[in-house]
Amino acid sequence: MFRPFHIPGGATVKCLQYADDVICIVSDLASFKALTGTLSTFQRATGARLNPTKTKGLRLGKWWWKQLPFAASWVDDAMKINGIWFGYGSPESLTWNEKVDLAEARMTDYGGRYISLMGKVSVINGFIYPLLWYPGTVLAAPEGVLVRLERAVFKFLWSGKTELVRRKVVYQDLRHGGLGLVHFPSKLRFLLAKCVFSAVDSEMPFAYFVRYWGGFSLRGFFPSLFSNSVPHSGRPSRTYCHMRDTLRMMSTVGDVSQSSERDLYQAIFDGLAGRVQPGYYALGPEVWRVVHSRSLDYRRRDRLWRIAHDAIVTNLKRLRWRLGDGICPRTGCTKWESVPHVFWHCGFVALLWEWFQVLADRLTFCNTWAVSKNYVLYGLLPPPVNTSVRGILTFVSASIKLAIWRDRCNIVFRGGGGLQTSSWRR
Ligand SMILES: [Zn+2]
Repeated sequence: MFRPFHIPGGATVKCLQYADDVICIVSDLASFKALTGTLSTFQRATGARLNPTKTKGLRLGKWWWKQLPFAASWVDDAMKINGIWFGYGSPESLTWNEKVDLAEARMTDYGGRYISLMGKVSVINGFIYPLLWYPGTVLAAPEGVLVRLERAVFKFLWSGKTELVRRKVVYQDLRHGGLGLVHFPSKLRFLLAKCVFSAVDSEMPFAYFVRYWGGFSLRGFFPSLFSNSVPHSGRPSRTYCHMRDTLRMMSTVGDVSQSSERDLYQAIFDGLAGRVQPGYYALGPEVWRVVHSRSLDYRRRDRLWRIAHDAIVTNLKRLRWRLGDGICPRTGCTKWESVPHVFWHCGFVALLWEWFQVLADRLTFCNTWAVSKNYVLYGLLPPPVNTSVRGILTFVSASIKLAIWRDRCNIVFRGGGGLQTSSWRR
């Protein structure tokens, strides 16, 4: 007889299957014979063959370093099952460091090309982070791994240069001035804690482990996970402590089993990352609505977002880093080169905004609206017209800002001759 493995609480397991992966749990020597018998029946029935070199075994407890009557490549420390390491040592760190290596390699692949900030956030959210979500549902990520990953993500985002906007701001969603970068420490916590929710009424083998290891510390949130009639550990493991702390954060919105996923995630995010209050009166939701207008592509949204956050390396900013003289690089201009100067005050851009004013007058059929500093920097107080005309004006003004900055960089880096306004009269 093939003896099953007993889980504390009453469940038994012999075999686990995932896609073409089969895991058998053998708990005494006699069962190997039964296992071999079952497998040979299976082989005769299906014509399939078991490949001993691809069959891996992990010896646990008393079987360490022992000869076992089964043809497999035996190991005694750790074994990888579906991308997760199991065994002795610290399989969590092993798994997580492997995943972060992979994430870093992927970011290096993307790092060589020019991608806007918005584009990079899409790459991170869509191609880098998904590597983490699966192990995230099984293992708590060690603190060191989180730090390493965050450093790598922000290095990729800012191309290894100075970070011009606080990380906390970048993590906010678009409506609150951020870039919508997923705050992965919050999401990982959320994913792991969600397993507890699915264990509450489940009879699957994993639910018995949750009740055994977590029942005692999680009963405050889920009374049904705990019962005096089933065994439970008095000392939860690190992963269950982690889950308990997450549930505590979640419970700030009320009863965790009654709240929506969105609220629960928000509670974790508020606890770990926190909301950002706009530092400057102008930076309300209106500004971000303009920055992320539908009429704009990533490159233009990027430029507007940077302008609104003062995240542009002007000479004045460089002076604050003790580099250069801080003066506008255009010949004949002697003012400090701040962001408002580059895009509005500088005499060399006045003509462009005059041209824009003429265009706006023609499109809006009104001559009471005047282009202002706040419109140029933050898109505030747009002309009172319908959204499609407003969209055109937003697009044109964003294009002007893109051209101003490109021209300014031409002067600084290639000694270019300055903007040819005539080319803008097309
Ligand atoms: Zn100037």
